[in-house]
Amino acid sequence: MQKYDVVVVGGGPAGCSTAINCASLGMDVLLLEKDTPGRRKPCGGVLPWITSEVIEDVLGEEMPQSVYNSPSELGLYYVPPSGRVNGGRMPNYRIHNIVREYFDEWLLKLTSDSGVEVITETRFTDLSIGTSIEVTGIRQAEEMKFDTKYLVGADGVRSKVRRVLDPDSDTQALIVGQELWSDWKKSDIEDCFYGFFRGDLSIAYSYVIPKGNNLLIGLGVQQQQTPNVSEALSMFREWLKVDFDFHEETMLAKEVWGIPFGYFVPGEGNIILVGDAAGLCNPLSGEGIRLGIESGESAASAISRSLKGANLIEAYNKEVGGISDMVRKIFDFVLSLDDDGRETFVKEELSRGTI
Ligand SMILES: Cc1cc2nc3c(=O)[nH]c(=O)nc-3n(C[C@H](O)[C@H](O)[C@H](O)COP(=O)(O)OP(=O)(O)OC[C@H]3O[C@@H](n4cnc5c(N)ncnc54)[C@H](O)[C@@H]3O)c2cc1C
Repeated sequence: MQKYDVVVVGGGPAGCSTAINCASLGMDVLLLEKDTPGRRKPCGGVLPWITSEVIEDVLGEEMPQSVYNSPSELGLYYVPPSGRVNGGRMPNYRIHNIVREYFDEWLLKLTSDSGVEVITETRFTDLSIGTSIEVTGIRQAEEMKFDTKYLVGADGVRSKVRRVLDPDSDTQALIVGQELWSDWKKSDIEDCFYGFFRGDLSIAYSYVIPKGNNLLIGLGVQQQQTPNVSEALSMFREWLKVDFDFHEETMLAKEVWGIPFGYFVPGEGNIILVGDAAGLCNPLSGEGIRLGIESGESAASAISRSLKGANLIEAYNKEVGGISDMVRKIFDFVLSLDDDGRETFVKEELSRGTI
């Protein structure tokens, strides 16, 4: 059986960041990814401007032009419950607009170039803990076993690693549905990421994003809520027709996935969770890529301290505490909001001119 210092499960932003950072600290790292490079992950593909600096800082590489969508740069536009009349574009605000598949494929390539052994099309299925951790994966119906000192679950919102550790853990997801519509230039839409806030549609957020010639519209709903995700999307389209002259041309795609909503699970023993698996996603905006990358760096640093004798989970909690506290505070804020609160939130954001 092959032996590693660290096995990372999942080749998204959090897993790649963990693996790259562990390798740069001199560890022997294996990354297992169940899919093929460039796999489809439902995503808006927008990143706050600071993310490019975080990527350079944490991963040591500049984000290449090849990962960008068009327009490559977007502004930010807020719309409160009372509608466009009280909304507006934030001054001097820039957002990266990327193609998520290209971005993740670039990250995975960066990971293997940094000395990490990457095995794709291999699904993690189980683990057993003895003096080290034995990890089981399945590749083309064949079972594979790996031995490791540390295991990192970077396997997303439905993390199998998390479920194996604690099958009864209460880890709620916000269900995010998005539709891709043709021809955004026929609607009265600017080259902006639009954040909409109205409680009958979403407890958290709704959004509109230009993608090439098309328009992505989406929102997040709670599980078992009325209206359900499809009904809420159709209500959202009606709002867009009234306020933004939205032209319902052709729906090109529709997809539904989850984001973490109100949990933080750091892991236990010599096993750490990062990114969505740990619950690290902003519940008011759905932003999780940057948080995944940052939590990967925290995980690597905690593992390095554990190799020198520190308790892994204590070290990780310290490293990642800034992110997990921020997510918890924003979650409490989301739960506290009614439409008056959402109205005030947008008003204050627009008057501050920055978030
Ligand atoms: C509809 C939608 C829109 C979003 N839009 C944005 C956005 O615009 N900007 C933003 O910053 N965030 C956005 N997010 C959130 C963002 O996508 C996530 O927070 C981010 O992908 C988390 O990264 P991750 O690496 O933790 O997990 P993931 O990106 O989910 O990666 C997990 C990886 O693990 C692999 N995997 C899963 N199970 C196994 C297994 N058993 N064995 C091996 N591999 C496994 C998966 O194939 C996947 O590659 C959005 C989320 C949704 C649902």
